[in-house]
Amino acid sequence: MSDTQTPAPAKLNPATMARQQVELAAKQLDIDPGVLQKITATKRELTVHFPVRMDDGSLRMFTGYRVQHNDTRGPFKGGIRYHPDTDLDEVRALAMWMTWKAAVVHIPFGGAKGGVQCNPKEMSPHELERLTRRFTWELIPVLGPERDIPAPDVYTNPQVMAWIMDTYSIMHGHTVPGIVTGKPLELGGSLGRFEATGRGVFITASEAARHLGLNIEGARVVVQGSGNVGGVAARMFARAGAKVLAISDSRGGVHNPHGLDVERVLSCKNQYQCFISDRLEASDITNAELLELDCDILIPAAMECVITKDNAPRVRARIVVEGANGPTTPEADEMLHDAGVFMVPDILANAGGVTVSYFEWVQNLQNLLWSEDEIDSRLSGIMRKAFSEVLAISHQKKLPMRTAALMLGIDRVAKAQELRGVYP
Ligand code: NAD
Repeated sequence: MSDTQTPAPAKLNPATMARQQVELAAKQLDIDPGVLQKITATKRELTVHFPVRMDDGSLRMFTGYRVQHNDTRGPFKGGIRYHPDTDLDEVRALAMWMTWKAAVVHIPFGGAKGGVQCNPKEMSPHELERLTRRFTWELIPVLGPERDIPAPDVYTNPQVMAWIMDTYSIMHGHTVPGIVTGKPLELGGSLGRFEATGRGVFITASEAARHLGLNIEGARVVVQGSGNVGGVAARMFARAGAKVLAISDSRGGVHNPHGLDVERVLSCKNQYQCFISDRLEASDITNAELLELDCDILIPAAMECVITKDNAPRVRARIVVEGANGPTTPEADEMLHDAGVFMVPDILANAGGVTVSYFEWVQNLQNLLWSEDEIDSRLSGIMRKAFSEVLAISHQKKLPMRTAALMLGIDRVAKAQELRGVYP
C-alpha cells in the first residue's frame, strides 16, 4: 500500500476517548451486550443554528448543541459551555461522562451536556444575554425541570443560568426555578453550589492523600485553571495549609516554589483579568510547564486532553485529581498508572458539582432552603462514600481508579436499564 493510501491515524477526540474508556471498563463487567449498546448510545442530539443581534446592529449566526446521552436513572443533567472550540463530539463525550458521574455518586440523574461555539471573551454582556436567551428558546422542546436541567460549565456562570431560567419561565407563563441549577442565590440557587465542584475536588484529593499517607498540610499542589473549579479548589487547599505552587488561566500562570498567596493571586485575576507575576512574588509559567512541575497533587481543572502520551512521562505528581472533564487521554492514563501515579478520575473527582446541583433541584421542587452546613455535610458524605466504593473496586479487581469508577457508574446504569426493560 502506498503512503497516499494509508489511512491517517484517527485523531483522538473526546468522544473516541469516552468510548475507549467504556470498552475497557465493560470488559470487566457482566453486562448483556444489547444493554451495553443501549446505554452507550446517545439518546438525542440537537444541533441548532441561530441568529443573534450584535451590539453594532449586525446579525451573526451561532451554532449550539444539546446532547442528551441517557435518562435511565433520572432526568438529563449537565452543564452548558460557551467556547470557540466546542463541537458535537466534545459535547457527546461530556454528556456520556455526566451519565456515569451521576451514577458514581448515586444521584438520580441521567447525563447531558450543551455548548455554543462562541468566544464569550469577545462579546459584551448584552450580546451574551441575547445569545443565551435565543439558545434557550431553541432548546425549549427538550428542556424541563423533570426532563433536562442545564448548569454552568466553561465560561458560563450563575448570570447565564439566571437568563436561562427567566427565558424558560417566560415561555411557560410562570417561574420555574428547577429548570436550571447553579443559579444566583436570589433566584433559588443553593448555598454551596458555587463552591461544590472545587470542594468535591478537595475532598477526594484529601481522601487520596489519606490513603497514601500524605498530609494535606504542607502538601505541594499545582492547579491548572483558575475558574470555578480550579479557583475554589486552590483556595480550599491553601486554607487547609497546603502549598499551592502554581495556578493558571488560558494564557498561562504564575509559579512560586515556596507557595503562592492564593487569595492575592485570585483577587489579582479578578481585578485585572490576568495574573501579574511581579505583584504576586511569582514567576510566569506556561500551561505546559505547569503540568510538569514537581509536586504532590496535580489538579488539571481547565480543558480536556491536556495530559497526553507526549507529556505524561514528564508528569511528576504523586496524585492527579481531575477537576476538569477528560484532561487525560487513555494512553497517558495508562502511562501514569504504570508510573505509579494515583489518579482520581473526573467522574469521581468533579462530581461535587452535580451532587449539589441535585440538592439545588430538590430544594427548588420542594420550595425549601437547606443551610450551608447541611449541604456541605451531605456533599462530604456522598463524595467520601463514592471514593471508598471506587477504591474498594480498584483494590478488589486490581484495576486503576478510572476503570473502577467507570465500572461502578456503568453497572448502576445497566442495572437500571435491565429493570426498566425495553419498550414496547
Ligand atoms: P470556568 O470557565 O469557570 O474556568 C475555566 C478555566 O480554565 C479558566 O481559568 C480559563 O482561563 C481556563 N482555561 C480555558 N482554556 C484553557 C486552556 N486552553 N489551557 C489552560 N487553561 C484554560 O470553567 P469551570 O466551570 O471551572 O470548568 C473547568 C473544567 O471543570 C471543565 O472541564 C468543566 O467541564 C469541568 N467541570 C466543571 C463543573 C462546574 O460545576 N463548573 C463541574 C464538573 C466539571
